[in-house]
Amino acid sequence: MRAANLSIGFVPTMGALHYGHLSLIEAAKKKCDIVVCSIFVNPTQFNQESDLNAYPRTLENDIQLLLSCSCDILFHPEVSEMYGESMEKESTEDYGNFIHVLEGASRPGHFDGVVTVLRKLFLLVLPHQVFFGQKDYQQCLVVQTLIHRSFPEIIFHLCPIAREMDGLAMSSRNVRLTEAERALAPKIFENLSLVANNWKKDYWQSVLSQASINLQQEPFVFEYLSACDPKSLRELDTFQENAIILVAVRLGSTRLIDNLIIQA
Ligand code: AMP
Repeated sequence: MRAANLSIGFVPTMGALHYGHLSLIEAAKKKCDIVVCSIFVNPTQFNQESDLNAYPRTLENDIQLLLSCSCDILFHPEVSEMYGESMEKESTEDYGNFIHVLEGASRPGHFDGVVTVLRKLFLLVLPHQVFFGQKDYQQCLVVQTLIHRSFPEIIFHLCPIAREMDGLAMSSRNVRLTEAERALAPKIFENLSLVANNWKKDYWQSVLSQASINLQQEPFVFEYLSACDPKSLRELDTFQENAIILVAVRLGSTRLIDNLIIQA
């Protein structure tokens, strides 16, 4: 396809596809001649075996969704095909300070696994353009660094977060929520919006504290709610107009993340 001068767009996923994934495929279709989606539940990016084992796998349904949005190629490798004998990970230690905060702090080694698998996938698929969701914002910064260092010819696209009608960010993990947890889950986006809507020099800190308190109410298990600089992910200590609010909470056994970018 490269020899035929066709442009290749790539959307890496872990499957259990939902409209958020399809929106990336749609974005890729608009920019590229051929769209490749990979489904690979990458063991090296999981911190807990239980989370890896519980990760939803819905291949038949995924294939139907990919057909419905005219995705050209599905790449669905086995773990042995991607890793052979060795599950060794490369290190992201020197990627910069942003790698050690938020998800990097909560999930040690997670980004090492992400970068390891993406390097393999990029070398196999040879994409011209890649499409990632803002939902995993810190991951997007990691991927941009990987591309900058090792694949400078690849064009990176950051795609917006697809949400349910009630604001909950779509996620493969949402199916693991109980009915009661699902009913509470929109509070995550509500509290991000509360912060964004009161993003003013004199209020931002108090509203951030209020939103943190709201997300510490049972049954939420609070991990972080942080206002950061969008480029460096440095936690803000003084007000700035352009910021990103990132959140991670657990509801029962399900860990959920979300974020909202604030622009002047
Ligand atoms: P995952 O299958 O969770 O590894 O996600 C694969 C890709 O889909 C990543 O680039 C995610 O950021 C993206 N993605 C996941 N959820 C959403 C969403 N709600 N909206 C947009 N993109 C998403």
